[in-house]
Amino acid sequence: MMVSDRRDSLPAARRVLAVCAHPDDESFGLGGLIAGYVHGGADVAILTLTRGEASTLGADAELAERRTAELACAVRELGITTSWLCDHPDGHLAQVPIDQLVAEVLVAIERHGPELLLVFHPSGITGHPDHQRATEAALSAACGSDLPVHGWYVPDEVATTLNAEFGTAFVPTEPSAADRRVRVDRAAQRSACACHRSQGGALPLIERKFELQGDLEYLRALTGTATDTPSRPAADQLPCH
Ligand SMILES: [Zn+2]
Repeated sequence: MMVSDRRDSLPAARRVLAVCAHPDDESFGLGGLIAGYVHGGADVAILTLTRGEASTLGADAELAERRTAELACAVRELGITTSWLCDHPDGHLAQVPIDQLVAEVLVAIERHGPELLLVFHPSGITGHPDHQRATEAALSAACGSDLPVHGWYVPDEVATTLNAEFGTAFVPTEPSAADRRVRVDRAAQRSACACHRSQGGALPLIERKFELQGDLEYLRALTGTATDTPSRPAADQLPCH
């Protein structure tokens, strides 16, 4: 995996922090890119803001615990070195004060020292408000710093095809010349996806997406939008484990 400033390679970074809303976002979504960074020698950490307990797949009283274990499995498969998991209410991230989420991202930044943040595109990919909120928090945390934020997205033709075949709500995003189109190895991503057994009903969709995209993933450089400048908490106040 080449890592450089070329448009067909990952943006250069030796330390990367991924910010996600749910367990499985790091695998179903960012997995190919994370594996590419790890393969290139980067140290990747992840901050996941909910335990995914509101999923309609595998829903039962123990879902949060199962998904916590599934995330740990995926973290191992992807070669992620550090994983923080918060316990914000799945499906209701938009109701969590943005300053609180931003403060948590800032603590993760302080602890890991990333050179780049990796997130979902602000569209939320599937339009999910939790995805949008996680990216909003990452962008606000990086705002005013030199820390670049890159948003992964699903290109328009793939989104349109998946929506027609599966009735999904992927937000079609037209690639621009400034975006990166990166070749990835799906092996580690597939292993990580398989960890999310409770969400296994999504795997035919994920495999069809891989089929449509081949080994390509799409990334857009994002620029921060300031909410109010969040207070910067001490590094021992991250209420996530
Ligand atoms: Zn998600």
